[in-house]
Amino acid sequence: MSYRPVLRSDLLRVAGEGASADTLVALVDPVIGRRVELGPIAQSMVVVLDGQRTVDEVVAEVQRLRPTRTRGEIEATLRSLLLLFCVEEAGVAVLERARAIRHGGVPLEPVFLEDTRVQCQGSGACCQVYAFGPITDEEVARIASLDVAGELPEIGPGPYVEAREATAGTTAGHYLKTVEGRCVFLLANRRCGVHAKFGSEAKPGFCRLYPLRALPTIVGNRIYDRGECQSFVASACDGRLLRDDMVRVGPLLPTNYLYHPVAFLDARTPCDYSYVLALADTLEGLVARATDLGAALRATSLVMDRWSAALAASPLEPGAADALSAAELARAEGALEEDAPVDPIDLAALARVAGALAESAAPGAQARSAEGPDRLGAALARAFVEAAAAVRSGAARLADPAGARSEEPADAIFAVAADAPWIDDALRRSLRQRLYGGLLLEESRLHGGLAVAALVLLLALTAGCSRARSRGRARMLPEDLSFGHAVAARGVREEKAIEVLLAFDGEGVRIARAVGALLGQCLCARG
Ligand code: SF4
Repeated sequence: MSYRPVLRSDLLRVAGEGASADTLVALVDPVIGRRVELGPIAQSMVVVLDGQRTVDEVVAEVQRLRPTRTRGEIEATLRSLLLLFCVEEAGVAVLERARAIRHGGVPLEPVFLEDTRVQCQGSGACCQVYAFGPITDEEVARIASLDVAGELPEIGPGPYVEAREATAGTTAGHYLKTVEGRCVFLLANRRCGVHAKFGSEAKPGFCRLYPLRALPTIVGNRIYDRGECQSFVASACDGRLLRDDMVRVGPLLPTNYLYHPVAFLDARTPCDYSYVLALADTLEGLVARATDLGAALRATSLVMDRWSAALAASPLEPGAADALSAAELARAEGALEEDAPVDPIDLAALARVAGALAESAAPGAQARSAEGPDRLGAALARAFVEAAAAVRSGAARLADPAGARSEEPADAIFAVAADAPWIDDALRRSLRQRLYGGLLLEESRLHGGLAVAALVLLLALTAGCSRARSRGRARMLPEDLSFGHAVAARGVREEKAIEVLLAFDGEGVRIARAVGALLGQCLCARG
């Protein structure tokens, strides 16, 4: 092979400290604005990527410097540097686009799925058990300038904003303070005090955008619905078309940063976010065209499995991964025709992750007060634990019908969802928004993200069915599914839940496939 890789000249080289001062420990990409940490093999490799050596010579030289490392490990490191565009000639078009946006003043146009709908139902539930930030410095100053103590004496003295460290699921920054899970500004009548006294424009931008979020990416400012609204079904299925609301929404979109993280194809292989954007668009299209939700999940898991395996084994030259990605995505449509049988191993993985979720969430749910202001949080947390336990039972029973004990057969749980095509429509909209909006990445993990996307649907349906049954209904109503959806979407964002889900990252495709099988079975059993 005549290709002679060379490290990008514009990357900033970060040396270690103390005894490591002669070693490069990280590369900072000034075009994309991200830092890539270097492991031991990469530390040796970056200094020999000088354009003088062929790939074989680079590998041989690194092997000489790191004699305990295998050829496979060294090749994987070079592949990672290619997939992260740290090598000249890799990702040229993406870097050009990022440079034009970040340094050339090219505007980020708002983009969204054509049939995105949203309409506030005025429940006030969004101002409870929700992430109240991060808010911008300008918003911090604006809130500080309001005469809250004078106009809203019931709220008490400030400050009303606090700085928080990053946790799994949230980023560091300034957040509105909360009182037992409710925004400090939420009044007893469930109305916003800031809105009531100072007008809508005094509120932080995320309040005015809710339940929408925006993701400034290289392909545009992607607007999506995170699905945490407690009126999700009414809002997302029957609300106002977003395209008719852009005069209001457009000015609220963030434009001060570019979202372009490192993503992981598997535990060892990072890749540039541009690959994920292409995959997400293809998966969203598949979900839109699938005959039903179960088929949509089975097809998406199949495509992600093949696509990520292909990229993780891509040839060691610039552009090779791009070509493979394009080829895999071009044949993705065929996955809708493949009907693989349900694998008990997949169902067992689903049962394990659901059981772990139920166990991890149970202490928090028990600790929350069922009385007083935190009762909404308590209701959501308990419903999440119950739904996860029901999913575990359903999956275990399907995986091993003879051996598994189940409190109740899944078809009985889901009987209230009989003959209701609107359920498929609502959950499919949820999945498409999740894929489109970048939620496919869970802490940079692609497979874990797909598992989360799938679990949200199943947990939402399970919690919605339980609510309908507990109210004595023969058929689930949209308000039941909305409740279930809020339970699921918020429950998987809890710090403990994210830890559990990341631990199952390696089984993400299995879990998604099993959810597809279970949803297919449950929704087919209806009627
Ligand atoms: S500022 Fe108002 S709209 Fe925003 S979270 Fe608080 S109560 Fe809700």
